[in-house]
Amino acid sequence: MKAEEIEKKVRDTLKKIGISKKDKILIALSGGKDSAVTAFLLKKLGYNIEGFHIDLGIGKYSEECLKKTEELCENLKIKLHKHIVKEKKGVTMCYIRAAIKSFPKYKKLNNCAICGVIKKDILNKEARRLKAEYLATGHNLDDELQTFLINLFKGSLKLSANLGPITKGKENKKFIPRIKPLYYIPEKEVLKYSKIKKLPVNEKKCPCAQKSYRIETRTLLEKYKPKEKIQMLENFVKFMEKLNIKRDKIKYCKICREPSQRDICKNCELLGVINQKVDSKIYKKTQ
Ligand code: AMP
Ligand code: ZN
Repeated sequence: MKAEEIEKKVRDTLKKIGISKKDKILIALSGGKDSAVTAFLLKKLGYNIEGFHIDLGIGKYSEECLKKTEELCENLKIKLHKHIVKEKKGVTMCYIRAAIKSFPKYKKLNNCAICGVIKKDILNKEARRLKAEYLATGHNLDDELQTFLINLFKGSLKLSANLGPITKGKENKKFIPRIKPLYYIPEKEVLKYSKIKKLPVNEKKCPCAQKSYRIETRTLLEKYKPKEKIQMLENFVKFMEKLNIKRDKIKYCKICREPSQRDICKNCELLGVINQKVDSKIYKKTQ
């Protein structure tokens, strides 16, 4: 794909989902290529954006992510909000994960799954606090295809009911709609674009990332060309519209009152576990 094609696709995606140039969009910036390209393109297209970075406190990796994010926001002249986990929660993500996994029930939980739950909670709360109309993430076409297949293989197609470049929680005012401007851009194209535009990005993978169903699905999709993947995702979106599966009504977590699919949200469940019993040996190991 040429750079202009990518720009046109992103412009069309945003137009189709009805984002106005006046709406405040908070971009979740990880320091990686996907969110960097998202910020670059939204700025280029004239959207009203600010950046938001969660510093997870994962040693040198997180230091580099923060550095690249700061550089990107400086270059693009956008405001950057930083959320430092160690300052807000008193401990780093490494500690939080290790402490949760010290409980037999959670021993087998994937590192990325735990981190994902905690990041999602922070992002929604902070986007709301900062009065953003939308929260944008760097999810690309490959991420979305993988998610669809994972949900299909697990028999949880209901989780794909919200498939598409915008996730709304219409009846829920506490939920900030999430948008994915790179929804129809294959990962390889995002990488190419980030290189052409010489965007500051951390190319290293998170040292805590573990083998997962997602990585296996990614391998499965490797043999398809970008054009085939675009077609596949478009077909899946149409297929889901035809099925018209309704997601469960969103409730409010009984502890934190945040929007949740269950009575107690996953964030409260996991953090609640470590607040009840902290294994000081693990704390020392992860510092
Ligand atoms: P991941 O789940 O790590 O593949 O990340 C998906 C998207 O979540 C990224 O493209 C970012 O938009 C956002 N994200 C991930 N990590 C962070 C972070 N540390 N701070 C802010 N946003 C993040
Ligand atoms: Zn909760």
